[in-house]
Amino acid sequence: MPTRLLCEEGHDITVFYANSNIAPQAEYEKRLVELQRYGADQGFEVVEGAYDPAAWEREVAPIGEAIKDFSPALGSKHVGDDAPEPQTVAELLDDERRRERCRACYRMRLEEAAAYAAENGFEGLATTLAVSPYQFTDVIREETERAAANAGIAAHFEDYRPYYDEATRISRELGMYRQNYCGCRFSVAEGEATRAFIKEQRKAAKAARAAEHEAEEAARKQNAADKQAYAEERAKRRAILKQLRNDS
Ligand code: SF4
Repeated sequence: MPTRLLCEEGHDITVFYANSNIAPQAEYEKRLVELQRYGADQGFEVVEGAYDPAAWEREVAPIGEAIKDFSPALGSKHVGDDAPEPQTVAELLDDERRRERCRACYRMRLEEAAAYAAENGFEGLATTLAVSPYQFTDVIREETERAAANAGIAAHFEDYRPYYDEATRISRELGMYRQNYCGCRFSVAEGEATRAFIKEQRKAAKAARAAEHEAEEAARKQNAADKQAYAEERAKRRAILKQLRNDS
């Protein structure tokens, strides 16, 4: 969706695939092939960055290792953390410690993309990360602007989250591969936790709807019974009056 919108705005785009975060390698390649297929179809070039998961493990993973036992998305909380139970997926994933890990991840990949852009004569840097409601959009903006400024090019940031549902629909219609986790090994468990959370929410919403329906049905039956009782009472009175009239 971001690529289509950028093209519609008149930008001549190239997509730089900077994803040393993705594990395992087979998943990295699967997503790359899908992107290349889509790029060929839509008429934009795809450039692959260096796949260097060792660098990601060195620069980002230590933050993930330090926080992985304290993620609300994984059902655990930091000792002394009295934050309320998450009510939405955004709340489930909006954890300060996870934010640190993702910031380091965005930084590494955006710096790589910005360096490539500057070296190859591109004017600006944008990112498709900004379409996902499961990412830290404010952090993505900061890191896009930071990487672009350091490379001496313009940052083109747009919050594409309002287009997420449409992007999801289009990718389904096109039969595209749809990943079920963000990319890194930590996000595999977070993806599972998110799906379980959504399932529970749907179950709770269904139960609430059923209870509401049951209450409405009980009220309807009670109303019908009241009307019936009232009608019987009136019929009884009419019969007594009639009887009295006949007797007099
Ligand atoms: S969840 Fe996504 S953005 Fe965050 S560290 Fe993992 S791969 Fe990077």
